[in-house]
Amino acid sequence: MTASSAPATSYKDTLNLLQTPFSMRANAKVREPEIQAFWAELQLYERLSQQNPGESFTLHDGPPYANGALHVGHALNKILKDIINKSALLQGKRARFIPGWDCHGLPIELKVLQGLKSSERAELTPVSLRQKAHAYALEQVEGQKAGFQRWGIWADWDQPYLTLQKSYEAAQIGVFGAMVLAGHIYRGLKPVHWSPSSRTALAEAELEYPDGHTSPSVFVAFPAVQLPAGLATQLGAAGLQPEAAIAEGGLAVAIWTTTPWTLPANLAVSVNERLDYAICAVSPRGESTAPSASHLVVAAELRESLEASLGLELQPLLSVKGADLEGIVYRHPLLERTSAVVIGGDYITTEAGTGLVHTAPGHGVDDFNTGKKYGLPVLCPVDEAGNLTAEAGPFAGTNVLKDANPTIIEALEGTGLLLKQERYEHRYPYDWRTKKPTIFRATEQWFASVEGFRAAALEAIAQVEWLPASGRNRIEAMVSERGDWCISRQRTWGVPIPVFYHRETGEVLLNQATLDHIQTLIAEHGADVWWERDEAGLLPADYAAEAAQWRKGTDTMDVWFDSGSSWAGVLGGIAGGESRAPELHYPADLYLEGSDQHRGWFQSSLLTSVAVNGHAPYKRVLTHGFTLDEKGRKMSKSLGNVVDPAVLVEGGKNEKQEPAYGADVLRLWVSSVDYSADVPLGPGIVKQLADVYRKVRNTARYLLGNLHDFDPARDAVAYAELPLLDRWMLQRTAALIDSVSGDFERFEFYRFFQALQNFCVVDLSNVYLDIAKDRLYVSGAQEFRRRSCQTVLALVVERLAGLIAPVLCHMAEDIWQNLPYAVSERSVFERGWPTAPAEWRQPEVEPPMAQILELRALVNRQLESCRSGGQLGASLEAQVQLELGDGAEATRAALRWLESSTHPSVDNLADWLLVSALQQGGSAPAEVLAEASEAGITVRIAKAAGEKCERCWHYETDIGQHSAHPSLCGRCVAVLS
Ligand SMILES: [Zn+2]
Repeated sequence: MTASSAPATSYKDTLNLLQTPFSMRANAKVREPEIQAFWAELQLYERLSQQNPGESFTLHDGPPYANGALHVGHALNKILKDIINKSALLQGKRARFIPGWDCHGLPIELKVLQGLKSSERAELTPVSLRQKAHAYALEQVEGQKAGFQRWGIWADWDQPYLTLQKSYEAAQIGVFGAMVLAGHIYRGLKPVHWSPSSRTALAEAELEYPDGHTSPSVFVAFPAVQLPAGLATQLGAAGLQPEAAIAEGGLAVAIWTTTPWTLPANLAVSVNERLDYAICAVSPRGESTAPSASHLVVAAELRESLEASLGLELQPLLSVKGADLEGIVYRHPLLERTSAVVIGGDYITTEAGTGLVHTAPGHGVDDFNTGKKYGLPVLCPVDEAGNLTAEAGPFAGTNVLKDANPTIIEALEGTGLLLKQERYEHRYPYDWRTKKPTIFRATEQWFASVEGFRAAALEAIAQVEWLPASGRNRIEAMVSERGDWCISRQRTWGVPIPVFYHRETGEVLLNQATLDHIQTLIAEHGADVWWERDEAGLLPADYAAEAAQWRKGTDTMDVWFDSGSSWAGVLGGIAGGESRAPELHYPADLYLEGSDQHRGWFQSSLLTSVAVNGHAPYKRVLTHGFTLDEKGRKMSKSLGNVVDPAVLVEGGKNEKQEPAYGADVLRLWVSSVDYSADVPLGPGIVKQLADVYRKVRNTARYLLGNLHDFDPARDAVAYAELPLLDRWMLQRTAALIDSVSGDFERFEFYRFFQALQNFCVVDLSNVYLDIAKDRLYVSGAQEFRRRSCQTVLALVVERLAGLIAPVLCHMAEDIWQNLPYAVSERSVFERGWPTAPAEWRQPEVEPPMAQILELRALVNRQLESCRSGGQLGASLEAQVQLELGDGAEATRAALRWLESSTHPSVDNLADWLLVSALQQGGSAPAEVLAEASEAGITVRIAKAAGEKCERCWHYETDIGQHSAHPSLCGRCVAVLS
């Protein structure tokens, strides 16, 4: 179109307006999958992770359990990993990520059993149960995988590691075997955490401690029937005849327990030899009834508090050391037998109870150890379902979680030996799957002897970098205090403990030859072979002749042993274990999981790796907190505060109420939180994130839209030619690249989130692009002041895309696909991490620019007051008069800097203030609309002289001088001609 023929009404068409297919709306539901398909077509992840020029980077995936729908906890975890991997890929590293799933274990076994009719269940064999569990786990893996992929997570999705894979199972047997041969595995009868509801032993990591658990606690008197000579002498000296003291209704030791059901298993009362104990005369207090014992032994320090809680006067007659009580023989309060007072250890304190501890070696670890010292049997009159057995005498058949406690308490009441009963609230371990209380129960189990490599484990912990640093204290405390690791489970869906027992003697067969043979069989056939074959088919050839003498074990391994062997099964950290990819190395660069994994996977992986190889399987460990709602509460169906990531990404049934925000908004959330603590998520937060997402998107759109006619190869302006304003923008961009690079290196993504917003909203939208409008729209398309600006926009938009790519990966790619000029990389990820040329770094432009922006803010406040007073519309209707007095030196220097520019068509204060005219000094305008003085600067606002140019909206005095365009200013006329 020629300018002269343009009718006045179409001057708008002569402006260089935005043109871009990059839409304002994300349309994420359609666009994100398209972008993912584009990546797949380019084999982008595969190529970058395998062919990047830099070093390999191994973030080893902790396997989620293959059961159930994905929740926001999964999102936090996997997206954090993906942000780290994508930024490593952009840095040129070979960040290969093999995703994993934990596939064995009770929950899947239960799911399968629940899905069966009773007739099917009756026909079920271990092999058919395992086949169903296998199929179920694979189905769950596929479901979760699709969810992870929809979030834009990059990984070897076609070759994940599954703990049910043959090669993985074989590597796990290799880890177990190496520990056996190093002497770290033993079989023993020991009290372990036992879940009656699951009928299996549990590991520490499978326990949880819900708030508000109460137990029925009882204080019981155990009547003495025989006293050691030394104590008898002391009693005599204190005026108490020993003969009389032990007569019926005489002296008793007082104990306290929160597990009355363990009383039938009582075989001793333990004391701390160093504590003081008081032998007290008992009399009722107030209305309370007298117990059958006339004298009680209690810890001296607890005497007064016991007087109050038992409602008894306890008159101290004699003080003795715990050691003096050893050898007292007492009568069991409920059963026909006697036992002795023994010396326990420092676990006996005066924090609660009586200072004398009821000891049942079959039902507690301390009890077990004390019993071992005294050669006591490990009496365990409780079966796997929690029912008391015949050994519990009259209480046989009662259940420890149901009627055993009330039945036993009632029996105690009948004896007159019950001193007190009350509910007691305390931390108590529950089965994390069935949510039912657990018990301690002695059973034959397989253990990893942590004692054997505890020192090495602590040394290994010290070599690892823990982020945050407090993680080190957590795992150090746990590893130094933990007992041996019970690794056997009485379940079917798992990796077998590959052991044979002699059918007659019970002798264990477990050696290099059998281990190697089983490992080879499992590598070939999978762990099912253990159940499919008989002993002859499982034993090495050398044992063929005696196969009939051996019986294969039926225990499986703790699933924490499964996942804790992943450094062997995936990273190839053991002979016979294969690395899944050449880019993976052991120890891994990074493990990243929730902070509960100090107790779980971080620890089980550490223990197995240290036991086999003497070092940790990781160099760094990063932890994240848990997701809560916006009020800091746990998410739960009953509270109705669950954020379903699938709904957040794809939208709900009613898209008005639950719009499809897309994966990038979910990812932006992950980047926004300080995940070192627990992190909140809820509808309000999602809305705010969607706003931030839109701001970034609209900023990018503006940049792209102004580049439609720009080709850097043809139109770019050299840095040396750029105006000051553009240099400032590039200095800000360089500073952003530096700070964000550091944020990613330190995994402090929330700082990136803040820096990104600040850059888009303040540096770009409020300042640079605000001032640039006139350059971009009004100038002639090829004019210097427009081309220089476009040069900056292109440089910035390419780098902005790169900086957001680890987090807003879809948007970044969308930007790249919409660059209106040719670039050599098909994907933003091929460009690599953004860099800034050294010449961009000109920090000296920042101070004068800061002064001018302060002045601009002062002017804007005055313009705003005129606008709200109705005296002005657009700021271009105004002219500004400026007077700089004392105290305005910095501003004066800044204006001199601005005036020094060789490009006054860009670097001029009137344009930067978006007003039509600016006057420094001189006489005040005739009619001042607003005036303000601050820090030596006086600003006066007046109506601009002249008339409004119909094209550029500037007020100019030369309008009407050009007959072809009577409504345009001279500048616009020049552009059109
Ligand atoms: Zn104009």
